[in-house]
Amino acid sequence: MPEFQTSPGMRDILAPESARWRAFVELFAGVAESAGYRQIMSPLLEDLGVFQRIGDATDIVTKEMYDFVDKGGRHVALRPELTASICRAYVQHRPATPWKVWSAGSQFRYERPQRGRYRQFDQVDIEVLGSNDPFVDVEIIALGWEFFRALGLRQVTLLVNSLGEPEDRARYVEALRVYFEANLGSLSPESATTLQKNALRVLDSKRPEDAALIASAPRIADFYSAEAAAFFESVQSGLTALGIPFRVDSSLVRGLDYYRHTTFEFQGGTLGSAQNALGGGGRYDGLVEALGGPATPGVGFALGLDRTLLACDDEGVFAAPSVDVDVFVVDTTGGLEALRITAELRAAGISSDRSFEQRSMKSQMKAADRSGAKFGVIIGTDELDASAVVVRPLRADDRSGTQSTIPRTDLISYLKKALS
Ligand code: AMP
Repeated sequence: MPEFQTSPGMRDILAPESARWRAFVELFAGVAESAGYRQIMSPLLEDLGVFQRIGDATDIVTKEMYDFVDKGGRHVALRPELTASICRAYVQHRPATPWKVWSAGSQFRYERPQRGRYRQFDQVDIEVLGSNDPFVDVEIIALGWEFFRALGLRQVTLLVNSLGEPEDRARYVEALRVYFEANLGSLSPESATTLQKNALRVLDSKRPEDAALIASAPRIADFYSAEAAAFFESVQSGLTALGIPFRVDSSLVRGLDYYRHTTFEFQGGTLGSAQNALGGGGRYDGLVEALGGPATPGVGFALGLDRTLLACDDEGVFAAPSVDVDVFVVDTTGGLEALRITAELRAAGISSDRSFEQRSMKSQMKAADRSGAKFGVIIGTDELDASAVVVRPLRADDRSGTQSTIPRTDLISYLKKALS
């Protein structure tokens, strides 16, 4: 075993999977930009306080942060998510609203690694700051839905809920607390601890011993104000108008104090229940203020790239794109011709590779086969003397086509035609 390997929960992404990751982000960018969202690239590292403003009721902040003091004495952290950074950027730059942005990149959480759960993982994200319109919620949910369609995923379920106005939610949390405390004996010890901090988060428990109690717990829907009910109604009618199927799940809560009104989650149909959330989001208020900005509503979501690709594997969709070159140049005259020809081909937009170190014809042909190239361009001393090259189809399905000797000056137009 080599002395150094990747740390637990961190992975090298090699080709062709790396090309698949790039294609994933490009597809997301296309969906977001076609709806007027513009990219924000924020730093991987921020002052710890930026993330602490997310709140202390979440494991992301309390247990899982990669934080340290840098050489300048600043307490910083690797970002565990994107929303806080985007809100910090909003406060710093004060762009016109509604500010519609998308972002993508690695996040870091010190979690227990398993399939679909890593310590470094990637997310794509959308946030809209500065609008209170429920149709913004519908727009972003629809973009998420469209993105899953574009990937080819079919087994995705959309769950939606509303947490109501902050006052509705406060009354609900109190009712939950009273209910769970009255039934403390039937609650798992872990959930009893959670209850001390945040009664809402008890609803997140996936422990079987909590299931019955959670099933008969008070429902948020019974606590909505008229305004909150109307807001949720608008979101649902917008989704229906777009033909997006969804299920209302009243146990779908986000434990943070900033969340209000809409929450939603996209679940994959093929992954285990602990890892089936492909992504989720919701509406939040107060985060921009907590970061020193004016009162500004926000709504957004993040989708996990790693986990969504696992779902794609399971459904056999969104395969890695080919990373093979089109042409492999075999040169037995010393390598200078290969140098010239590959440069010419690349300048003409034809991807090409070659061997180095003046290998034998046989070994170069082997490398050509291994490269996955469609054509070999072969040049030996006879061809050099005659200002010609040999073009040979390399793919098994192409082998019937015999090789041709063509004038060197015709090479590019010949290959362009053959590759089209
Ligand atoms: P969250 O920011 O916790 O709402 O997570 C949004 C999405 O990011 C989840 O639905 C997952 O797809 C993904 N995600 C969150 N944590 C991890 C992790 N540790 N490893 C892989 N993906 C993750």
